[in-house]
Amino acid sequence: MKGFTTKAIHGPRSKKDPHGSLRVPVYDSVAFEHESAESLHATFAGRKPAHVYSRISNPTVDDFEQKIRLLSGGLAALAVSSGMAAISNTLLALGGTGKNVVTTKHLFGNTLSLFEKTFSSWGLQVRYVSMTNLAEIDAAMDSDTCALFLESITNPQLEIADLAAISGITKKHGVPLVLDNTVTTPYLFNSREAGVDIEILSSTKYISGGASTVGGVIIDNGNFDWLQSAKIKDRARKFGQLAFISALRQEVYRDVGACLSPHNAFMQTLGLETLGLRIDKSCRNALQLATFLQHSPKVRAVHYPGLADSPFHAIASRQFGGKYGGILTFDMDSVAECFTLMNALQVIRRATNINDNKTLILHPASTIFAEYSDEEKVVMAVRPTMLRLSVGIEDQEDLQEDLQRGLDSL
Ligand SMILES: *Cc1c(COP(=O)(O)O)cnc(C)c1O
Repeated sequence: MKGFTTKAIHGPRSKKDPHGSLRVPVYDSVAFEHESAESLHATFAGRKPAHVYSRISNPTVDDFEQKIRLLSGGLAALAVSSGMAAISNTLLALGGTGKNVVTTKHLFGNTLSLFEKTFSSWGLQVRYVSMTNLAEIDAAMDSDTCALFLESITNPQLEIADLAAISGITKKHGVPLVLDNTVTTPYLFNSREAGVDIEILSSTKYISGGASTVGGVIIDNGNFDWLQSAKIKDRARKFGQLAFISALRQEVYRDVGACLSPHNAFMQTLGLETLGLRIDKSCRNALQLATFLQHSPKVRAVHYPGLADSPFHAIASRQFGGKYGGILTFDMDSVAECFTLMNALQVIRRATNINDNKTLILHPASTIFAEYSDEEKVVMAVRPTMLRLSVGIEDQEDLQEDLQRGLDSL
């Protein structure tokens, strides 16, 4: 099996189903029985791969993890209850008091809040740099840096960092490079090949597809030598390359308890099967709508990495194989115009969330960034005149007609 969609549909299967079920069922079971005390002992000691309790592992969740691992080409994958759980579990495993994480202000809002509010109160220092300034990234790292954290395409700024170049810097410092690959997924971006060490996914977004369920994934790409990590090196002596996943599965993830439910794992495994088809359609729709909006005299500016005039067009083409994601932003002349346009739409939904099958529109400054001051919004490049469009998989003509309706209402 070579192709992404073939792998997504047929994937690996850990055990043959006794009934020949083509789909791994939802194992809604908390505990798993063993035939002997020795078997339980061996499983608890980590010598025998088997399930004992669903907060630690579950067959339906395992099926989802194995498919993701195959699709990403990573070494091991761990599914968790949400994208935020993936980020927090990763940082809990890597960081601690006296350590620092190097990142950027152009982050998913709740991730920024997690760093600034939750983690900083536990003594993890957060250092902000511009991800497009390699010298600044290099200068921010020191021997206490536990991770460099960034996103593949920032939202809503739509900035794209050169990940291969950045991985050269993190390698030099012996620091794991953690990438939130949610908006590109392993379908558009193979983070392992670019030198990323840990990939994070909010499977709530493109992977679930119909925006049905919340979930997250942590992937260890197998690129990092964990003997270099002060916190994980003891485990690395015992578990080698699997040290990080073992630190999660046998400690942080197990103890924090943010496990993915079997039902959600089932829904997201279903989503994986059509991920490639849906991303292709969403990217195609997004490029056509960006071009359409660019031609409207009522729109002040359009931002989309697929447009030739985007400052990130070249790097996006190189990194993401000629597809540019499903999110675009555009600027109107005023906040009032943004609201009027939004209110006139009949197909596109006024809602937060991204990478749904449905096209969604949002005014970021008054919603997901409302808790930040005007000065902070300037730093985060969230303009009051900006609208964000997360482009779904509907028929393109209907979306274009709807946006025209919005523009005509002004
Ligand atoms: C939505 C999102 C998250 C958080 O994921 P949840 O599943 O909602 O917890 C993290 N990072 C990015 C880039 C996201 O878009």
